[in-house]
Amino acid sequence: MFFLKKRALAAAALCAALVLAAGFCLSAAAAKTLPAFRVVIDAGHGGADPGVCGAVTGIRESEVNLAVALRLAEYLEGAGIAAVLTRSGPASPGEATGAGSFKQRDMLARKAVIEAAAPNAVVSVHQNSFPADRTRRGGQVFFREGAAAGQALAGSIQARLNALSGGTFSPLRGDYFMLNCTNYPSVIVECGFLSNPEDERLLSGEDYRAQVAYAVFCGVLAFLA
Ligand SMILES: [Zn+2]
Repeated sequence: MFFLKKRALAAAALCAALVLAAGFCLSAAAAKTLPAFRVVIDAGHGGADPGVCGAVTGIRESEVNLAVALRLAEYLEGAGIAAVLTRSGPASPGEATGAGSFKQRDMLARKAVIEAAAPNAVVSVHQNSFPADRTRRGGQVFFREGAAAGQALAGSIQARLNALSGGTFSPLRGDYFMLNCTNYPSVIVECGFLSNPEDERLLSGEDYRAQVAYAVFCGVLAFLA
């Protein structure tokens, strides 16, 4: 009886802790949840464009990007934040044929998703490659020069990625289409280096992909709160 009571008390304490933790997140978010937060998650590459490939196994960046993006969407939705994906499968979001090059159609389709969503943040998920130095590893986040909100979002995510991989990167300025195509706070998250064997091994597994996605999720949440 006493044992059951003790267990019940422990369960109640745990519930209270969870409610408190959830309450903190919700109250922090509630101030800005009218209308609800929306985050565009852009899984880079896809279709005919695999992105960079792993040096050891040849794993495609497009596949890793999608897996991390889907996991990030899951975490955001779980926190009551709408996640809008530019692609949710292996194909490019652009039309297979039409005016312009494949890359132009692909990029413009991503931009159209962002504009339609009018999001609070845009996270473009990519993997790095630097064959000239295969020891380089860890996450690196890019923002557009002069974009204060983008820089804040990048710093928030970079701090969590550094904690995950033991890196000491600072967020970097980048001149990329996904950062420049709209004025919503936007970052490119390079989750790791597929030119580094350890990063490639880690990013090939669901556990580390989930850890990276969670680090990005925490960074986004802190930015929005
Ligand atoms: Zn890429």
